[in-house]
Amino acid sequence: RASDFDKGYFQSYAHVGIHEEMIKDHVRTETYRKAIMSHRSSIAGKVVVDVGSGTGILSIFCAFAGAKRVYAVEASEMAVHAQEIVKANNLSGKVIVLHGRVEDVSINEKVDVIVSEWMGYMLLYESMLGSVITARNRWLKPGGLILPSHATLYMAPVTNSPRYCESIDFWRNVYGIDMSSIMPLARQCAFEEPSVETITGENVLTWPSVIKHVNCHTITIEELVSVTAKYKFSSMMRAPFHGFAFWFDVEFNGIKPYPANDQTQQSHEGSSVSKKRLKSDELVVLSTAPEDAPTHWQQTLVYFYEPIEVQQDQIIEGLVTLSQSKENARFLNIQLEYSSGGHSFVKQSILR
Ligand code: SAH
Repeated sequence: RASDFDKGYFQSYAHVGIHEEMIKDHVRTETYRKAIMSHRSSIAGKVVVDVGSGTGILSIFCAFAGAKRVYAVEASEMAVHAQEIVKANNLSGKVIVLHGRVEDVSINEKVDVIVSEWMGYMLLYESMLGSVITARNRWLKPGGLILPSHATLYMAPVTNSPRYCESIDFWRNVYGIDMSSIMPLARQCAFEEPSVETITGENVLTWPSVIKHVNCHTITIEELVSVTAKYKFSSMMRAPFHGFAFWFDVEFNGIKPYPANDQTQQSHEGSSVSKKRLKSDELVVLSTAPEDAPTHWQQTLVYFYEPIEVQQDQIIEGLVTLSQSKENARFLNIQLEYSSGGHSFVKQSILR
């Protein structure tokens, strides 16, 4: 059932550059290593599946943490190299590379742990989380561990005059030539689609809003087809408001046991369950927030065509919908309904 789109998707992961970029993202790779090592007691002697193992790096970290067996499942040709890497590191008896999709390969036992680095730009782009859910439903033992265990997508209004100037105002004076007639086209080209870029905490007008919280133990594939959230912000300053930024974090909170459904989880909350949670200083979090150390995910920005002047305490509110694109389920449609201070509009864009 692998579509042609997916062929292109897995071909992109056959290139070394994409793995190099991910592995050199120190924040990403070190946080995973730390999370795996801090869950040593749950990994040692256990069976692990690594969903989308790439070069096999996370599988090998799990082997170092004492796993009895690790299934490294990788659909792209990188699986061939993962196999060689495993052999060169004398782990052939421990790390079993399966070249295929998690949806298609077979594993003839239940597993204790799932590890995966599945997050795309603004969390949901690439929608690889569905494959983690498939792996969970196929192989994870009840009460098993998923690393990461939770993910949260955030959104916040931003101001970014330098970015606006460099793409738009630039045309006012080009080597002394007035090219401002290009500005409408420049606006269209620069801001029609979302862009992946790095901003800082200073660009953000107020605290972020949670757009989606994912509990990896209970989330379903159906829930991911479309995500809708209301947002409401109060600007902390007077500023030109240029658009919205999206980012995410993931938590590796494996000590907390996960009952079969959220209802039981709620009824247990505050009792013995919460006592078993990791102390917050031990909780490992991988954050891609503007105020934290940059990662290869950067932030995802949806800019307006024209800045909007907002006053301090002005309310910014609306609705955001993220949905898998019909042309390619790996692409993400972003629909923003916005209203504030007499302005209201809808902006559709697509992250491809
Ligand atoms: N775990 C590696 C690679 C992460 S990138 C690391 O941390 O460096 C995600 C990888 O998952 C890619 O190599 C991609 O080819 C693979 N992948 C995505 N969906 C998959 C699926 N359904 N089955 C198997 N592999 C998949």
